[in-house]
Amino acid sequence: MTEIPLSHPRYASLMAREKIATGVKKGLTSTQGLIAQGRGEAFDYLIGERTLSSAAAAARAAAAALILARQPAISVNGNVAALAPQEMVDLARAVGAPLEVNLFHRSEERVGLIADLLRSLGADRVLGEHPDAAVPGLDHARALATRGGIYDADVVLIPLEDGDRCEALVAMGKTVIAIDLNPLSRTARKATIALVDNLLRAIPNITQAARDLKGRPAQELEQILADYDHKGTLRSALVEMQSYLNDQFEVPSRKGCCF
Ligand code: ATP
Repeated sequence: MTEIPLSHPRYASLMAREKIATGVKKGLTSTQGLIAQGRGEAFDYLIGERTLSSAAAAARAAAAALILARQPAISVNGNVAALAPQEMVDLARAVGAPLEVNLFHRSEERVGLIADLLRSLGADRVLGEHPDAAVPGLDHARALATRGGIYDADVVLIPLEDGDRCEALVAMGKTVIAIDLNPLSRTARKATIALVDNLLRAIPNITQAARDLKGRPAQELEQILADYDHKGTLRSALVEMQSYLNDQFEVPSRKGCCF
């Protein structure tokens, strides 16, 4: 990887870019993943590359849903594997969920590489190499699913997803948690719970919330879920985005204006 000095003002963003580029070189990530990363970066820029309060509340709701789940599952694609493999393993362990590799641009080799990477980082259960079921309504490789994993799960976390798979999983009656920097994407809108945040911040936030909430009475967790307002969360992300943008262009005085 290119060495990025810690002092660089865009250190985190440039490191993420390096991780994705390395993921492509290693065969974990598809070249199309670079474009998805670019779209994500643009939205991250618009929210000031920080976790919005709406996303922090959504992370807590996501953790509550995963703890309450009868059978949770967590989906991993090529971008996620390149950006946050250890964070995914840590979250899976915190909530007792399997990680299931699911790729839009599927090749058996890529699935194997990602599964091996997750195992090497300590994942207890990695699925996706031998799918034995299909999500109804999808006609591409993303339909592939595993019994005992995403196919049977009642709660599924899908960081970085395409809208039609999100919608299809919801149609199966699952609680679907999405992480998507774009509050306007079909994924964010169709999910049950959405974190409008960079997955590099969102995943550790969910893990932390899960560790905090574990062992709390089910009633308290159910209340956190009941308090979660999906449309309100997306609206609030847009409002926070707009207010951040307005702050950037606030003109202190006419004299100081450079536009
Ligand atoms: P949809 O079908 O839901 O409308 P889309 O067509 O925008 O989605 P993709 O082209 O697969 O979906 O784009 C990937 C999505 O992932 C984008 O919405 C982008 O904002 C988001 N994204 C990319 N990188 C990250 C990241 N690191 N963290 C969170 N979200 C990300």
